[in-house]
This record gives sequence, C-alpha cells and structure tokens, in this order.
Amino acid sequence: MDISMVELKRIKQRIGSLEVIERVIWSSPPISYCWDWSSLPISYYWVCRCDCGNMRMVEEKRLDEGTITMCVGCDMKKKMGKLNVNFH
Ligand SMILES: [Zn+2]
Repeated sequence: MDISMVELKRIKQRIGSLEVIERVIWSSPPISYCWDWSSLPISYYWVCRCDCGNMRMVEEKRLDEGTITMCVGCDMKKKMGKLNVNFH
C-alpha cells in the first residue's frame, strides 16, 4: 500500500486522548546484531500528542490494535488510580 495514503488516513486521527501527528521509521537493532543493517527489522511508529500535552511514540501495530490511548504519564496515573481503588 502507498505509505502516503496510509499517512493521510491516519494523521489527525484521534485515539482516546491521543492525536496522531506524524509517522516515523524507527530501527533499533540490539547491540549483538552485527550483520547488514538492511536485514534488520524496521518498525513504523506514530508520533502522537496526548490531551495533557505530552508526546508519545506508538508502534504502528499497537495503534492498529487500539491498545494505546494516552501518553505514558496519563497511563501511569490511570494505573495508579486503579490501584488506589483496589486497595482502599
Ligand atoms: Zn497524557
């Protein structure tokens, strides 16, 4: 599929508290890898902005799954909130 079409469809889309800003290509080889870089797996990430103003990089497949709907900070706050509810 044409990448630019994917981008056009996704940019400005809202997922929970996140607004999709742009797509980036990210390859993060483990240090032990010593063969050709071109054989490394490349991941597509989306830069998203949370309602609170923080940015978060979301892996494309996670975005497709819809499992990430807020920045790391808000995620933590939500989890802490849940813990408080469970233990008090
Ligand atoms: Zn946030």
